[in-house]
Amino acid sequence: IISLKNKRALITGAAAGIGAAIAYRFAEAGAILELVDIDMRGLNALKRKLSKFNIEVNVYKVDLSKRENIISLWNDLEQPPDILVNNAGIYLFKEFTEVDEDFLDKIFDVNVKSVFWMCQEMIKRRKRGGVIINVASIEAVLPFATGLVHYDISKMGVIALTRALAREYGKIGFRVNALIPGGIETKGVKKLKKEAAMKLNMDMIKTAMNFKNRLPLGRFGSPDEVARMALVLASDMSSYMTGAMVAVDGGFLSA
Ligand code: NAD
Repeated sequence: IISLKNKRALITGAAAGIGAAIAYRFAEAGAILELVDIDMRGLNALKRKLSKFNIEVNVYKVDLSKRENIISLWNDLEQPPDILVNNAGIYLFKEFTEVDEDFLDKIFDVNVKSVFWMCQEMIKRRKRGGVIINVASIEAVLPFATGLVHYDISKMGVIALTRALAREYGKIGFRVNALIPGGIETKGVKKLKKEAAMKLNMDMIKTAMNFKNRLPLGRFGSPDEVARMALVLASDMSSYMTGAMVAVDGGFLSA
């Protein structure tokens, strides 16, 4: 059994999907939780669900796309967390030739810059090292879907950041790893598929079908299947791992 008792974990994008599943697994393992999202309703609903574990859960409504919000979040924390999970991210589809500056800024602000600033605060404020888990995507390593060029490069930025920080701060006790989810059926992903079906966006539907057929395990994953690996990366079970890219992808990268 993996225990995170007496550990503080901060999870971003915790109100839904993979982030909420990670929060659930960490709560079950006994961690004290600092949950961050722009969606306060989702955070409060999750907090109610976690009450059965009798652990401390604090929720924070923060738009992570602005550095000033990130700094005031860290100032509000009673103490810096032992474990930081940078999971918040947005995947909006847009044809490469239609991407404008505002759109690209938005993607980078949330997917890369927020992770950069969160890691910076963690490393500045934690004197005794700690664990950082950054959620990237297989899309970065093996771009597959149509209309996600901007997303792919943002997630590759997250991977580069992870590896660079692992190298720079390993000797002072930080372990920094990237989780690389494949196709995970969250509500967000289901909504995208429904929208594609409604708009009869055959490209997107075909991409999803091809994707599933290519998977060695023949199915999409669940948020909890990613959360279980986050639990390993957060705990001493992975004490000799840093700078790793851990794919939870049904075998997609190998196929
Ligand atoms: P989701 O959309 O279900 O949840 C993301 C959460 O992040 C939401 O609760 C949202 O409110 C929050 N968020 C978004 N922008 C924010 C902001 N500016 N400030 C604060 N919170 C914000 O997403 P998910 O499917 O659970 O994905 C989680 C992470 O995993 C993302 O980084 C995503 O890119 C990555 N990922 C997902 C998949 C997948 O198939 N679902 C695959 C690979 C990678």
